[in-house]
Amino acid sequence: MIKTPILIIGAGPTGLMLSAQLHRYGAPHVIVDLKDGITELSKALGVQARTLEQYRQLGIADAALSEGFIARNVRFVVKGRTRAQIQFGEIGGDLSPYPYLFILEQSRNEALLHDYISARGGKVQWSSEVVDLKKHDAGYTGTIRRGDGREEAFECRYLIGCGGAHSAVRHLLEMPFKGETNEQLFFVADMNIELEMEKQGLLLAINKKEFLAFFPMSGENQYRVIGILPPTVEDPHDFPFEVLKTHVDEVLDIPAQITGHSWYSGYRVHHRIVDTFRNGNAFLAGDAAHIHSPAGGQGMNTGLGDAVNLGWKLAAVVNGWYDEKILDSYNEERRPFGVQLVRTTDQAFTVIVSPSTTARLFRTYLLPVILSVMLKFEPLRRFMFKTISQTRITYRGSSLTDGSRSGTLHSGDRFPWFEWEGGNSFDWLSDSGYVVLRFGEAGGMEIPDWSGPVVQIAVAGAAADAAERAGFPRNGVVIVRPDMHIAKLIAG
Ligand SMILES: Cc1cc2nc3c(=O)[nH]c(=O)nc-3n(C[C@H](O)[C@H](O)[C@H](O)COP(=O)(O)OP(=O)(O)OC[C@H]3O[C@@H](n4cnc5c(N)ncnc54)[C@H](O)[C@@H]3O)c2cc1C
Repeated sequence: MIKTPILIIGAGPTGLMLSAQLHRYGAPHVIVDLKDGITELSKALGVQARTLEQYRQLGIADAALSEGFIARNVRFVVKGRTRAQIQFGEIGGDLSPYPYLFILEQSRNEALLHDYISARGGKVQWSSEVVDLKKHDAGYTGTIRRGDGREEAFECRYLIGCGGAHSAVRHLLEMPFKGETNEQLFFVADMNIELEMEKQGLLLAINKKEFLAFFPMSGENQYRVIGILPPTVEDPHDFPFEVLKTHVDEVLDIPAQITGHSWYSGYRVHHRIVDTFRNGNAFLAGDAAHIHSPAGGQGMNTGLGDAVNLGWKLAAVVNGWYDEKILDSYNEERRPFGVQLVRTTDQAFTVIVSPSTTARLFRTYLLPVILSVMLKFEPLRRFMFKTISQTRITYRGSSLTDGSRSGTLHSGDRFPWFEWEGGNSFDWLSDSGYVVLRFGEAGGMEIPDWSGPVVQIAVAGAAADAAERAGFPRNGVVIVRPDMHIAKLIAG
């Protein structure tokens, strides 16, 4: 019998990040997954700046950086001819220590999180599938089936569904997953291609009706290719690689030689989200709560963000640092972002894949021009970076925020990144707990209703000057949540 305060179902990126966060705060939990180990498939590739910032807080950002690379440009190839090559390099400027789009396969992201958990004595229970579930006043009971067929009962107070698009928790609790499924069939393939292309660039190949996106991977001549399956394919789960090879050759229409592949799969694109991320003491996170097209490389990053948001709150309740009511703020803070994401990725995706003449003209002729113009203007460039990198996410509407502000900074916003000679603002946030920053003459401060760890920092000199330039008060107190969002700004 497994008895635990917190049971996490699913050890994909979302479940692993949640477990890592719980380890960070010493909160007891169990994590299970039906697979027999972390994924070996590359799946998601784009790692956004906000994710790297969260990795930095865990101390694993440098390891991630050493394993992947920065995507520096995108090349549009239309009917076999290069129409535009747009440099985006470090488009985020001084907004983040990671002002770029970073490429690192999902399998490696999972491995980094898994290593973090193992180093703290944690263990994922692999080959363990949750097969049934009952809700009680005090939590949940149910059954886990092991790889050898054995069944074991479990009992937990908090149940977290991180089981991806087919989440058992969502199904067993009958939580509707509203939205649509795109009619077209898509494919993803990791191919070896001898292609004349800058290794750290993306390539979009467009012809009359089709489009293909090529993302470089870490192996030599290895590319992730995504696109629409040719109409001859009826079953996305059963078609020979030769079909893809011919299709890619035709659409690309430039000298290239496909020499092999390590993985390919067909899939359908869905745009769906649950009505609530919380149902009693069950919570959904990651693809279990929201799914959308891969446009913009957001899915894995959003699941990781869900886990960071929920992790410290669950730990606070289980460790007795805060009342259970804090858990309501998870749905309040993460669902609005999920709704917006599903809507915008759906719109972007329609433009990319629609067979209509207008959409075709737009992506062939207008898109490269619009993109290159946008990247030339700093405010537009910053806006684009903030949106794609997820550094713009704010929780201003949450019950945990109090409406306080200082200049353009509001309670609920991401704590900004800034540097001064010999230091930077994120180093203040590396310990686990709330952080109280005292500027000028201001005294320390208790966090209302919170009995967990609090780091008190007096800010003076060059650090105070840099903070003032970033919008903080010269004299006053700023309280920062454990997930690096501003809780309160008090000018004093
Ligand atoms: C082609 C493609 C490209 C993509 N590119 C990007 C990208 O560049 N950037 C990005 O951010 N996202 C991208 N994504 C999306 C990304 O892959 C997903 O959003 C991400 O995998 C979701 O993580 P998750 O942990 O929520 O779910 P999953 O990765 O699906 O993990 C769920 C886990 O739960 C386990 N599980 C399921 N049911 C049970 C059960 N009953 N009991 C126990 N365990 C269970 C599964 O074995 C699995 O390990 C892409 C997706 C596709 C298809």
